[in-house]
Amino acid sequence: MREFNNKFNKKTYYIVVWFSIAIMVAGLLIGNPYFREFRYGYIFHLGLVFILSVCLLLYPWKSTGILRICIIVVASIYFYTIFLLYPETKSSFIFLCLIPAFSILFFDKRLFYFSLILNCVSILILFRYITYINHEHQYIYLEQDLIGNLINFIASQIIIYFIFYLTNGRIEKQKLYYEQIQQSERLRISGQLAAAVAHEIRNPLTVVKGFLQLFEQESSFSPDRKANVTLMINELNSAEQVISQFLSLAKPEKNRVPDTVDVKGVLKSVTDVLYSYGLLHENRIELKVTDECNISANNIELKQVLINVIKNAIEASNVGDLVLVTAGRENNFVVIKVIDYGRGMSEEEVASIGTPFYSLKSKGTGLGMMISFNIIQKYNGTIHFQTSKGRGTTVIIRFPSL
Ligand code: ADP
Ligand code: MG
Repeated sequence: MREFNNKFNKKTYYIVVWFSIAIMVAGLLIGNPYFREFRYGYIFHLGLVFILSVCLLLYPWKSTGILRICIIVVASIYFYTIFLLYPETKSSFIFLCLIPAFSILFFDKRLFYFSLILNCVSILILFRYITYINHEHQYIYLEQDLIGNLINFIASQIIIYFIFYLTNGRIEKQKLYYEQIQQSERLRISGQLAAAVAHEIRNPLTVVKGFLQLFEQESSFSPDRKANVTLMINELNSAEQVISQFLSLAKPEKNRVPDTVDVKGVLKSVTDVLYSYGLLHENRIELKVTDECNISANNIELKQVLINVIKNAIEASNVGDLVLVTAGRENNFVVIKVIDYGRGMSEEEVASIGTPFYSLKSKGTGLGMMISFNIIQKYNGTIHFQTSKGRGTTVIIRFPSL
């Protein structure tokens, strides 16, 4: 009922609604004992038919939660009114059992539970009224076996609940599946776009690097200047490799041979690079490496992982907090820990990390951890988060030691 953007759905909805209105009006006009007498009960019945019709016709235009609740409440009052007003029409009791089934059509979990509870409470009040207050015995068919009827009513509500449970489960699964398809499509498109941009950036980089290589050989340059040029070339090499790796995410290179990487050296250079970034937030980065740690990985990729993780730690820290980075050997593994005392994460947040574009930062990309997870996995490593909200996070990365 919610999907009214489709013309066909809207048309079907209106056909069903007009048909229902016709039946309600028929109930008012055909064979109604109070027709033409205009008693209060009949006017009330007429008013309910009018209100319910208006609500149902308005729904496609204003499908709000409040209108849905109104429809269910008015429909409940309508069916109970018919039951009480026309005791000789015994079949009205069936509609009382079916009221929550109507709310299933709105695909709204809370509305269904609301309607189910409302109906159970109403039926209890009704049964009490029939047994203790109403002495005219118009509902003798219910009175004769009150317990049996109550059990039947409960059974009908359980069946309706079961139908709801199954359909709702299926609908939610479909919704999830649809969202996943949309997400992967978004990823595919943004991946292609990013790959195109990365490719375009590589060309000017090559030109700049070529000129710098010429300057490096220039004899008129002082050694100091040459050292600076060499530094620039090294940085450009790093940038070029990052771009190549990014492009390889879209087109993975399977046969790459990993090098032996000295974790201590990499950690030193990463913490040096991030030192000034930490200062911006007045965070000090402390590095403690206890053993010689060598792993089989790619230098630049490991740097990329550690930069992402340490940067996240700095960004999560409060002003002035320490970020501690440790590395050491445990059994046959090299264990790197990045410890911060910042905002920490809830279980749900930890579960979402690594999902593309998941970020709680206003300027975050939500790509850092996704790329890091890929790289760690590629070199048979693992990553874990020990965290508690408000107390900080310890990120534990393990790689097989060499
Ligand atoms: P970004 O840094 O661009 O937001 P990331 O993939 O690096 O993307 O991180 C995703 C999210 O994970 C962050 O937005 C943050 O909410 C959470 N996160 C990662 N590391 C930490 C940490 N050390 N402490 C608290 N939250 C973290
Ligand atoms: Mg990040």
